Amino acid sequence: MSTLPSYAQDLGDGIFAIDTGFHRDVFDAAYLMVENGAAAFIDTGTNFAVPRLLATLEAVGLKRQQVQYVIPTHVHLDHAGGVGLLMSELPKAMAVVHPRGARHMIDPSALVAGATAVYGEEEMARSYGQIVGVPAERVTESHDGMTLSLNGRELQFLDTPGHARHHHCIWDTRTRGFFTGDTFGLSYREFDTAKGPWLLPTTTPVQFEPEKLRESVQRLLSYQPACMYLTHYSRVRDVQKLGRASSSSSIGWWPSAAG
Ligand SMILES: [Zn+2]
Repeated sequence: MSTLPSYAQDLGDGIFAIDTGFHRDVFDAAYLMVENGAAAFIDTGTNFAVPRLLATLEAVGLKRQQVQYVIPTHVHLDHAGGVGLLMSELPKAMAVVHPRGARHMIDPSALVAGATAVYGEEEMARSYGQIVGVPAERVTESHDGMTLSLNGRELQFLDTPGHARHHHCIWDTRTRGFFTGDTFGLSYREFDTAKGPWLLPTTTPVQFEPEKLRESVQRLLSYQPACMYLTHYSRVRDVQKLGRASSSSSIGWWPSAAG
């Protein structure tokens, strides 16, 4: 392995957090998982993160054809905007997408139109670039309880509505950790103190469903996870404590700047 780029962090057990650089540093993470010469990306950030993802892959000594899966946790553009462009660089990879999100990865026009209505064309171009679709034959839909093997390392998919109806979380049996996308909440590393990390529920429109989110968080917690890999931002350990914040009755009252 050559030196990792400064924006990538080795979390051990074949997991690397990659700062996608979206909006600011240490705000939006994608992950690379490596298992005996096979690799998967979980979330991608936007198109502008793709060079970072590919450079990290190279730094850990893997070739593009060794990537088997690209797995967006959900199809919001800050996490999945780069899926199509990344897939075009990875000849052997399949995109594994929640069934409610799959068609939007194949034809991103509705996602683009929705985001353009909110942000305007100039901001769309600046933040997201030109969104690329994934050929339909390279998209696989997940289902609740589905497992995938990354060279023998089992990944399990859970349907986790609440932040978005097109959201799944991915359980890594090796580290007993969930890749939680925006389901478990937001927890930025610069707010860590001696008392540990701090977390706020994800309450971003437009599909925010507080009851469903609480149920999804409870379901994640029922696995007794050792850690969570958040998109905003990176790994947290104090899972049961943070889970109480994430699913508390105050949910819905918090403002949120991301998601
Ligand atoms: Zn989101």
